[in-house]
Amino acid sequence: MDFYDIGLGNNDAKTRTLANQDGVKFWESQAKNLFWSEQWHTALEWNPPFAKWFVGGKTNASYNALDVTVRKNPDKKAILWEGEDGSQRVLTYQDLLSQVSKLANALKKLGVKKGDRVTVYLPMVPELIVSLLACARIGAIHTVIFSGFSAQSIRDRVVDSKSSVIITADGGRRRGTIIKLKDVVDDAIADLDFVKNVIILEHVGNRVTYTARDRKWGEFVDSMESSCDAEMLDSAHPLYILYTSGTTGKPKGVLHGTGGYLTHVFATFKWIFDICDSDVYFCTADIGWVTGHSYVVYGPLMHGATQVMYEGALDYPNSARMWEIIARYRVTILYTTPTALRMFMKSGDDIPNSNDLTSLRLLGTVGEPINPQVWKWYFKTIGKEKCPIIDTWWQTETGAAMISPLPGIETIPLKPGSATRPVPGVCISIVDNAGKKVSPGSKGYLVVENPWPGMLLTLWGDDEKYKAVYWSKYKNMYYAGDYAKMDNDGYIWMLGRADDVLKVAGHRLGTAEIESGFVSHGMVAESAVCGIPHEVKGESIIAFLVLKDGVTATQQLKEDLIRHIRKTVGSVATPDQLFFVKKLPKTRSGKIMRRLLKAIAQDEKIGDVSTLEDEASVDEVKSALAELQYALGKP
Ligand code: ATP
Ligand code: MG
Repeated sequence: MDFYDIGLGNNDAKTRTLANQDGVKFWESQAKNLFWSEQWHTALEWNPPFAKWFVGGKTNASYNALDVTVRKNPDKKAILWEGEDGSQRVLTYQDLLSQVSKLANALKKLGVKKGDRVTVYLPMVPELIVSLLACARIGAIHTVIFSGFSAQSIRDRVVDSKSSVIITADGGRRRGTIIKLKDVVDDAIADLDFVKNVIILEHVGNRVTYTARDRKWGEFVDSMESSCDAEMLDSAHPLYILYTSGTTGKPKGVLHGTGGYLTHVFATFKWIFDICDSDVYFCTADIGWVTGHSYVVYGPLMHGATQVMYEGALDYPNSARMWEIIARYRVTILYTTPTALRMFMKSGDDIPNSNDLTSLRLLGTVGEPINPQVWKWYFKTIGKEKCPIIDTWWQTETGAAMISPLPGIETIPLKPGSATRPVPGVCISIVDNAGKKVSPGSKGYLVVENPWPGMLLTLWGDDEKYKAVYWSKYKNMYYAGDYAKMDNDGYIWMLGRADDVLKVAGHRLGTAEIESGFVSHGMVAESAVCGIPHEVKGESIIAFLVLKDGVTATQQLKEDLIRHIRKTVGSVATPDQLFFVKKLPKTRSGKIMRRLLKAIAQDEKIGDVSTLEDEASVDEVKSALAELQYALGKP
């Protein structure tokens, strides 16, 4: 077993001690780090499965994100923005506050009230952050739609949330082309009368048609007063609706509250990133996903941090882009995804090695299990063996990180591929089908035993579905839908999705176990496996592998890989079929969609892939699937 004890981090044993003594009291002590206009009288009201945190307390998310810092240091840089075309902007906390106030006043002028929904469909520009905070300032519920989604996805979400206002732009930049966002919105809402107004940011200079309900940001918003009092809201007041990534099925509309959510985000941002005044933080996630909500918008801003925000593809115009950004802004903390790391790793070490990455001190990852091989590459090639790798496990539903190394409060040895231990105040177990804890080293389902502050309030407009998805498999335990194990040191290893677990000859195998086995062979960049029914074994394994650049796919390599997997994972993991492909079908947030592999391998009709529009880019998935079908010899 590899151990990496690089001794970086603080040692503050009392945080865990307090959390272990009394979880609710502990979270109360964390909540006190935020601004509250009124104190709560009850820390937790738990009517399973509905939790309300800090009942009676009043606060405001935008006040915590902006005013708190503006009062101390208005000129502190908040955002160092870079566009794909190389343009740059710098915004201070005061700049953000003025813009947020103007937009909040503009929304009020349009009749938006507390509890109303506002849809935000913007590229990664500072105005996206401004939009979220303007909604939060007046108690409107923001619902962000990733700017790569099409008209139909927008329509579905706008109908679901009944948004009265949409904020968008004339366009956004991605891979050298302009995505005409306003045109997409026009298509999406043509017949939706309840959408009263659309605010349009003029960002790329693309000509758009304006109708009676449209308002130009540059005229309408900019003409407003630049101050607006933050409305103090009940702690459980809904802050936002956000749809999950859609890896396992149709996205779910997760509803988050205010005081509990902010407390969890504030605490974990500090513990995970050990943030200090001089840091330059860079999270590559789009704000269209929960990582962007918690760790681009609310976490960093509540801590008065300075961060890089980038609009565009990380590998555009070539795969040096991300490393150049890090060098240009002297980024100290990087937070990205395994899928991005695998993409960079595929093209070798020369590119990162030729950029100055010496400013980096912490390296984070989120979104999928990180293969140990990728972890080690991140550690050695990017962090030069000096930066801890912070693998954070969490979900849209959990609001903030649940399992992660925490250099802000403790130094523990790291193990490549493990997100280490639950954060203080969060109680996680691995259980069997009956809900009984499994012994260390055994595999099972990940559950959360107690409510936690960042926990979703419900699924928007669907309490029954909320109960069914998360609280029906086990009594009073939150079912995360992930397969995992805990080792003897209490470290948790994520093994893949519960839906994707393989049963081969009586053994249960998580997809991540086999996939990481393949990736540990130096020539494989990415791998995805699935099981199909087999008369004797129960299931047989099919593997799809993407090779690193410059590696030739040969029969010899295939045999070599099969030997490798037998040796590293065990003969039970031997695939019956193994295919080399150029790419794998992924969600728009970059996660591998194994359910499609399975469907295709079983000859199930995938049908019209446009129904996947909500989860993935149809064209990309279509071409990846066509390649898989070809590999399988299926027309
Ligand atoms: P859907 O719920 O619609 O299928 P999704 O689960 O991919 O989509 P997210 O909430 O964006 O939507 O992702 C959360 C999931 O991502 C987790 O349940 C887990 O499977 C995976 N995940 C996130 N971080 C990690 C990590 N550090 N290690 C392993 N898996 C992770
Ligand atoms: Mg999920």
